[in-house]
Amino acid sequence: LRVVFTAIHRRDKGITGTIAMLHDVTEQEKLEDARREFVANVSHELRTPLTTMKSYLEALDDGALDDPELAHRFVGVMRNETERMIRLVNDLLHLSRLDSRKALISKELTHVPDMLEEVADRFSFQLDQKEISIELDIEAGIQDMLLDRDQIDQVLDNLVSNAIKYTPERGAIVIGARQTGKDWLEVMVQDNGMGIPRKDLSRIFDRFYRVDKARSRNMGGTGLGLSIAREIVKAHGGTITLESELNQGTRVIFALPIQQTEGDTG
Ligand code: ADP
Repeated sequence: LRVVFTAIHRRDKGITGTIAMLHDVTEQEKLEDARREFVANVSHELRTPLTTMKSYLEALDDGALDDPELAHRFVGVMRNETERMIRLVNDLLHLSRLDSRKALISKELTHVPDMLEEVADRFSFQLDQKEISIELDIEAGIQDMLLDRDQIDQVLDNLVSNAIKYTPERGAIVIGARQTGKDWLEVMVQDNGMGIPRKDLSRIFDRFYRVDKARSRNMGGTGLGLSIAREIVKAHGGTITLESELNQGTRVIFALPIQQTEGDTG
């Protein structure tokens, strides 16, 4: 319910009264609000790198071009900004496909330990650079299952790249997996990094929500990683949760229903 107070003015007497109107804020309006906020966010996220690039282009035009060393640095900055914009647009396209349920799910029989080892391998360079250790803690006996590898890899990549981004040098990451009962696979990505303040936890899966915008941007983040992960997990009939303690670390757990063969309802 939204209450709107309107003052009644009389030309000669000033304010003579107020009218209170009660508006029922329907689901439809809430959706509209969310949509408006999203468009405003997207515009802002795109304007920021464009403004940065514009000022560097102007500096080049105003003479920096004649200083090769400076010019080289400026081009580097513009390249980074361009890459981040491409990442942002790709993330947006991905989200929009997930929203319209046009993202085709194409499942293949997957050996979970292999999949998790491959994630760790993909990040070995970044892990080495920050001297972050990674441990795989995979319970024996997880059955092979049908998964959309591209999409689940995307979830894992988003979670591991966050764990690396928000963990200081020489930190530690654990990727864990176990089967709970007959029907569920549970995967965990845990770090001992900076953690998330309690007050931010409830909004952390929201699109563009970041605890520290500047830090996330500097790290190349788009603010969409966790929301994409959640949409993908949801599309697979699963759940995702995040627990975090400031300055202690963060643990994200997602659970997927196990489907062993084509035609299983899983
Ligand atoms: P971003 O591109 O900013 O990383 P995400 O949607 O992946 O966007 O994450 C949203 C925000 O959640 C991040 O900006 C960061 O503040 C916080 N966050 C996500 N993962 C972690 C983590 N492992 N440790 C600490 N903070 C995290």
